[in-house]
Amino acid sequence: MATNIQVAVRVRPFLPFEAGSKSCIDVFSSSPTSSSSSSSSHIGNAVKIHHHNKEGHTFTFDKCFGGSVSQVELYESVVVPLLNSCLEGYNATTLAYGQTGAGKTYTTLGPATSPDFFKNQKHTPEHDAVGILPRALRDLFHDLEQKRNSTNSNSNPASETESDILDETINISKSPIRQQSSSTNNNNTRFEYQVKLQFLELYGEEIRDLLSTSTTQKIVIRDSAGDSEAIGATEVPVSSAQEAMVCLTRGMLRRVTGATAMNAESSRSHAIMCVMIEQITRSEGEDGEEAVVVQRSKFNFVDLAGCERAKRTHAKGQRLKEGININKGLLVLGNVISALGSGDKSKFVPFRDSKLTRLLRGSLGGNHKTLMIACASPSHKNAEESLNCLRYANRAK
Ligand code: ADP
Ligand code: MG
Repeated sequence: MATNIQVAVRVRPFLPFEAGSKSCIDVFSSSPTSSSSSSSSHIGNAVKIHHHNKEGHTFTFDKCFGGSVSQVELYESVVVPLLNSCLEGYNATTLAYGQTGAGKTYTTLGPATSPDFFKNQKHTPEHDAVGILPRALRDLFHDLEQKRNSTNSNSNPASETESDILDETINISKSPIRQQSSSTNNNNTRFEYQVKLQFLELYGEEIRDLLSTSTTQKIVIRDSAGDSEAIGATEVPVSSAQEAMVCLTRGMLRRVTGATAMNAESSRSHAIMCVMIEQITRSEGEDGEEAVVVQRSKFNFVDLAGCERAKRTHAKGQRLKEGININKGLLVLGNVISALGSGDKSKFVPFRDSKLTRLLRGSLGGNHKTLMIACASPSHKNAEESLNCLRYANRAK
């Protein structure tokens, strides 16, 4: 299995409206050594699903999370390694996959994040439901800030006091690049960073810019060696995790949703939230020449469209067409990840077959880390869709 692509399954708990349904999926550890901790029996590496077949179908993945696994447990188990790799300069992507209602948005974002969540670095029970993206943003800014403080620690204290830093966090109009132009330290190294956001929605094969105030701006994808760029897409600089969430929430409200028979809020589009990180290290050599090292990386959080098949939603006409288009993106994504995961470098990877995979090209494969989180409902009523979801995720391994 290719080490840069991880596949996790998350089975959500039963929801109140599912009272009385039977569970059709069990999470377990296929071997005693593969369990990260024997005390948390709900984190394993295998699932068994019952659908028609009495024996059940068993699949193994990198990690499987049962209904009692909290957001913070999932985050620490599979997302923190991606964030660390991003801080080292690699790109990372999380892909939330599954049928509508399976928990993709809950896992990625959770309910509206309260500003209190960003005030400290510790896990507190009242913020249990916060999803992986706000958690990653909080840790990202914390880590960058720490790096900045430790690198620049010997700078002139008058140049930036504690209260200046607070001011800067609150005043969003200031440039998020924190400069310390007048100061030097022992080893003459200074560190600055800048974080920017992009938020695109793919509706069928149409790209929408959720952070743009203009409705006429067209976005085109330009491919370059091993990467791609969304030309014309708005990039919003943000100077704190909270400011980033405010910005993304504004974008979220612009998302297209279409009513289907399954879920009135069903999302028929892919949401790609991209956190762009730039780390700048300046050092002065003995000859007085300044050396500048700029490290850029991206962390994509993708909330994919529901993977349910059109017939389940009684879709006709326009809706049905949407269903087919959306499935194309998911189909190509499956092919791309499966080709990358095969570990065969000579294998053709069909990035170009959909806009979704063209956009993600620079973050999939290579040294970049990808995490697919296949989300599933535990209810026997959804067994068929859940089985399809697990089969798809199984191909990605
Ligand atoms: P999707 O985005 O896949 O359509 P949602 O994330 O909106 O699904 O989840 C559907 C419902 O289930 C929401 O009400 C959400 O709060 C709830 N839910 C999903 N996953 C969990 C979970 N792990 N714990 C508690 N509630 C969950
Ligand atoms: Mg959703």
